[in-house]
Amino acid sequence: MAISAPKGTRDFLPDEALFWQQFKATAAEVFGTYGYLPIETPALELTELFVRGIGEATDVVSKEMFTAISGENLKNWVENGRAPERKSRLSLRPEGTAGVVRAVVQHDLVPQGAAPAKLMYAGPMFRAENPQKGRQRQFNQVGVECLGAEEPTVDAEAIIMLMRFFQRVGIPSANMTLLLNSMGCEKCRPAYRDLVKAHLDAHSGELCDTCRTRAEINPLRAFDCKNESCAKVMEQAPKITDHLCDECKAHYETVKALLDGAGVAYVEDASLVRGLDYYTRTVFEVQTDAGLGSQNAIGGGGRYDKLAEEVGGRPTPGLGFALGFERCALALEALGVEMPQAQRLDLFVACVNDEMRAAAFGLVQAARDRGYKADMDHQHRSLKSQFKLADKLNAAKVAVLGPDEMAEGKCQLRDMASHEQLIIGFDEVVDTLGRALA
Ligand code: AMP
Repeated sequence: MAISAPKGTRDFLPDEALFWQQFKATAAEVFGTYGYLPIETPALELTELFVRGIGEATDVVSKEMFTAISGENLKNWVENGRAPERKSRLSLRPEGTAGVVRAVVQHDLVPQGAAPAKLMYAGPMFRAENPQKGRQRQFNQVGVECLGAEEPTVDAEAIIMLMRFFQRVGIPSANMTLLLNSMGCEKCRPAYRDLVKAHLDAHSGELCDTCRTRAEINPLRAFDCKNESCAKVMEQAPKITDHLCDECKAHYETVKALLDGAGVAYVEDASLVRGLDYYTRTVFEVQTDAGLGSQNAIGGGGRYDKLAEEVGGRPTPGLGFALGFERCALALEALGVEMPQAQRLDLFVACVNDEMRAAAFGLVQAARDRGYKADMDHQHRSLKSQFKLADKLNAAKVAVLGPDEMAEGKCQLRDMASHEQLIIGFDEVVDTLGRALA
């Protein structure tokens, strides 16, 4: 039987692969205007990084992480019952922030007193989730992290930048909702957490089993429960924004004022807690009504002022977001936004007979050396099917090399859109092409 791609993963065939390249290039361009520079970190990290950074009790770490094991270690485990040591276990990254913060700490990218490090990444993330529309086991994220500044201007500019990016790729503001909340900080959150726990305990009979456990381990996660009865209980839960300390309140108010000033609309959502332990203060998520059903979050992020310390660095405030390429592509498709067309060929060189092949080969090469996309038949096709191929490749011009014209150092150059035909010198084809395409 033929082997298919694993469950929850998919191939990007050339059209989509080209779109992914353009998407990343647009992100680099938009984020570049805000001072973000690229960083590449490994797809494999020590499992410990995610356990400490994201939090052991989160769904992402406790259930969804793919842990990697070498063939030798696996054999040792199965045959001798010796599991690899906890400290040396590796996992495929389920998200990008922990790795970037690890790199910032490891390479001391934000020494004391330095300007913030503004970094962006793009690449695959891995989560062992049950695949459905908009939810895969390997998916691509574009994300940014800004480390070293705690001012609310960083939060606001990142949110504005995210919304600008979505608009730039073709998702209209009218189809997006920006949700905003503050998660408080280590000063105000513990007391709030206790209030939510007390609320959960008081409604214990109405909760699902998972939320009853959540009440003990991580009460705030009950806000994420999709169970109707739990959702009803959480609607009545105390709101974090009513329990922020003065500093967190001032930070949140400034972020909102900056967004208002920039004309970026948002909806305050006290139930937005996001699934990861590391968030402090600002959290946000962008949802779309375009064709995604329940997986309608296209991007999100927040502030994480304690994460650098969690992974062993000095206190370094941070903020970041990640957006999902596949979900954006699905939203754009639902909105009827045309995907960029596969690139068109500038020149196809057709041969009337086999004797013309060497000359055709030379002409194609000369055009390519000048930077034009050029090709010819490589399968001994008839002249008619060479034209069909040129059409399929969306060629702008076709040069036809025939023995009679070539004997006089000439060939035919045909414009595929206007069907206009010229007889020109063989040596002039590339220059003519340059003038015509310009
Ligand atoms: P998160 O880190 O969960 O906030 O994810 C950030 C963004 O990545 C989401 O808004 C989605 O667009 C995308 N994303 C997260 N999980 C998946 C998944 N399993 N499959 C596809 N896209 C995802």
